[in-house]
Amino acid sequence: MDIQTTMLTSLRKLAEQHTIETLGDRSDYLGASEIGYCPRKVILEKIHPGEHDLATLLRFQRGHMAEDIIARLFTAAGYSNFNRQVEIVLSGDVPLKAHIDFVFTSQVRKMKSILEIKSTSRIPDGPYSSWESQLYIQMGALARQHPDYSIKGAVLTLDLAHGEVAFFNGYEPQKTIFKGLMERAGTIWSDYQAILRNENIDPKTEVSPLCGFCDHISTCPRFETEDVPQMAGAVQVLQELQLRDKNLQGEIKKLKKQLLAVVEQKGPIKSGGCFLRKATRSRKHLDMERLEAFLAESGTGIDEYQNDRTFSFLEIRKAKAT
Ligand code: SF4
Repeated sequence: MDIQTTMLTSLRKLAEQHTIETLGDRSDYLGASEIGYCPRKVILEKIHPGEHDLATLLRFQRGHMAEDIIARLFTAAGYSNFNRQVEIVLSGDVPLKAHIDFVFTSQVRKMKSILEIKSTSRIPDGPYSSWESQLYIQMGALARQHPDYSIKGAVLTLDLAHGEVAFFNGYEPQKTIFKGLMERAGTIWSDYQAILRNENIDPKTEVSPLCGFCDHISTCPRFETEDVPQMAGAVQVLQELQLRDKNLQGEIKKLKKQLLAVVEQKGPIKSGGCFLRKATRSRKHLDMERLEAFLAESGTGIDEYQNDRTFSFLEIRKAKAT
């Protein structure tokens, strides 16, 4: 068995174990973290849970690691007034559970503070709406369970690869938002139950850039036709970023050229807390002319040593007006 297969099998086993220990059977209830996502995706994942690939499983492990780091960090800082993986079952028509990463309690101030940890590969400019929905459900659930406490909420985001963090703080329970989210949960749950009864229901779809990570995109009605106007925002943002990147690369190149010209004339200098000097490196390169001549003499050619390797990328072309 190769290392990738061993990793995949073991990580799947670990993920299953973790789900059983912390979340139980997710087909029996709706989790607070699911309410903010596309309803169709949530429902279909309960009915046909797909097998996660290596990248997704590693991301899950990264999430657990981030939580463990934060727990160790608070313990080292002398905090002991917190509980991890707090489960709250919300009463009502919909079987709804909230699993909260950290709940800090101050008995003196009669306050409970939720801290939700998110591990990402890039720190976003602001919290995602699905994170906020989850937080509002968690705060509402905690407020119901502890009506004599004031409740606060925050999201701590970690980018473990680049060592960056962002703290989105200052959330408090909002009755109207909580009510709206409970209604949304009710619709998702009743559509889910109807599909289980084989009723012909088309659950609501919400197109977003996260559709690329959805296992049910191939059957999604929103992607049936070629035109998906809901993705226009993401395409526009990408094009603007690419343009900014191009301009930025031009600026960088220009400044580098100017500074190189200075050190070429003057020699090494110190400026802005940095040393600047002209550096020269050599890189080996193939002398193709000589190589081709040599191969031709041996009765062969360069083509015989060239293989095709496929790779994928996003191609964006201007669409013809219809
Ligand atoms: S592809 Fe997008 S809209 Fe369709 S089900 Fe998946 S997440 Fe929802």
